[in-house]
Amino acid sequence: MYCTIHVYIYQVLIFKQYTPVNGINCRCKKSEVILLRGNSNAEALEAWIIRLRREFHQYPELSFEEYETQKRILKTLGELGIEARKIADTGVIASIRGTLPGPCIALRSDTDGLQVQEELTERNRDYISRNNGVMHACGHDGHMAMLFGAARLFTENRDFPGEVRLIFQPAEEIPPGGSKRVIAEGGLEGVDAVIGMHVFSNHESGSVGFRPGPFMASTNRFEVTLKGKGGHISKPESCIDPVRMAMDFIGSLYSALEKQLDPSKYVIGVGRIQGGAQFNRIPDSVGILGSYRTYDKETTDIIDKTITECLDIIVEKYIKPGEEFLGFPDYDLDILHGYPVLVNDPTFTDAVHLKLQESFPELTIYPEIEKTFAAEDFASYLQMVSGIFISLGTRNPEKRIIEINHSCTFDIDEEILITGTEIFYTISLDFLKNPEKYLNSQRNFPGDISSPK
Ligand SMILES: [Zn+2]
Ligand SMILES: [Zn+2]
Repeated sequence: MYCTIHVYIYQVLIFKQYTPVNGINCRCKKSEVILLRGNSNAEALEAWIIRLRREFHQYPELSFEEYETQKRILKTLGELGIEARKIADTGVIASIRGTLPGPCIALRSDTDGLQVQEELTERNRDYISRNNGVMHACGHDGHMAMLFGAARLFTENRDFPGEVRLIFQPAEEIPPGGSKRVIAEGGLEGVDAVIGMHVFSNHESGSVGFRPGPFMASTNRFEVTLKGKGGHISKPESCIDPVRMAMDFIGSLYSALEKQLDPSKYVIGVGRIQGGAQFNRIPDSVGILGSYRTYDKETTDIIDKTITECLDIIVEKYIKPGEEFLGFPDYDLDILHGYPVLVNDPTFTDAVHLKLQESFPELTIYPEIEKTFAAEDFASYLQMVSGIFISLGTRNPEKRIIEINHSCTFDIDEEILITGTEIFYTISLDFLKNPEKYLNSQRNFPGDISSPK
């Protein structure tokens, strides 16, 4: 599968041997390397991408704290001769212009790690995280490396139309996320389409998956404070028990939603219940913190409304006569809508599917992958312009790379990094040459693709 892709990009023969290059395994035999456009070659490119990934992996940083990562990105872009600037505080935006006029495509990588202590495995001895308690456990190190790989290919031959915009976006992991900041600071200005890619261990190494339309869920957070009236536990008649109210509320909310909605349309859960201090006192209030995920705004609206209705019913039910109960029970509700639903543009997705089939006939493609209740702030870019978010498989039981994203032993099968690079490069180059194949004329089309941007 990978070799076929190599043939396309590098026009070299299929290389089956693995030769270590500076401690990094490469699939290309040194003697057989053919120079790539005069000043690079397949082996060097792959080794460079893997080396970058390992550097990023060793120095992960948390969301909106990616200062060293930002420096590393700016330095590497400088070495490639690519103009760049800081964006969204700890992010970077860069631009590679072709020699011909044309549209603009943005390629996005996230840059943040997670609060996870990485465990030593049989593979990661040379590149385990050196930042205590922080780990690139979601593969964003690989995303950055693939973006650099594509950038390098574009810098080595500028004979293309339009512009390639590189977005190194901070803070994907924690809502409100970095994408909204990138957009607010003009990161998408002049951009006609956007591509994002994510490594996931739920399908096999080197395969790709996507789907037209809704692909990943919206995230929403709700926080409720139920206000009762506290007092001695032996005198329940003189109290309004917020613990019972909380039990009632959660039970009635779940059953009200089950009656209204198909279970495939949403998930909801309570992550924290907090209230009270000691065994013999009914507390004054109980806090409930939870979240729900959906694939469309209509379902989100129904859940919002149902939460309020259930709270109103509970308050009504627990009302007691008597002056001492005046103003109780009551509730506070705070709903925060986080990342929106991630929707792949159907026209763009079809065009990507055709191009991948045509360019990489042996690549395993899942064009109708299952929707997932995972969420991604890439969704915000797709609300602005056409594009696609692609899942790149990294599951490889032979190498024992089977752990799910966010695990403390998560790792990437590094052979897929060159695949991701080639997919980024191939699709974006095809888009720049043939934007009409990708863009639904009803939705958006480059305003004037004949003039340089
Ligand atoms: Zn993640
Ligand atoms: Zn991620």
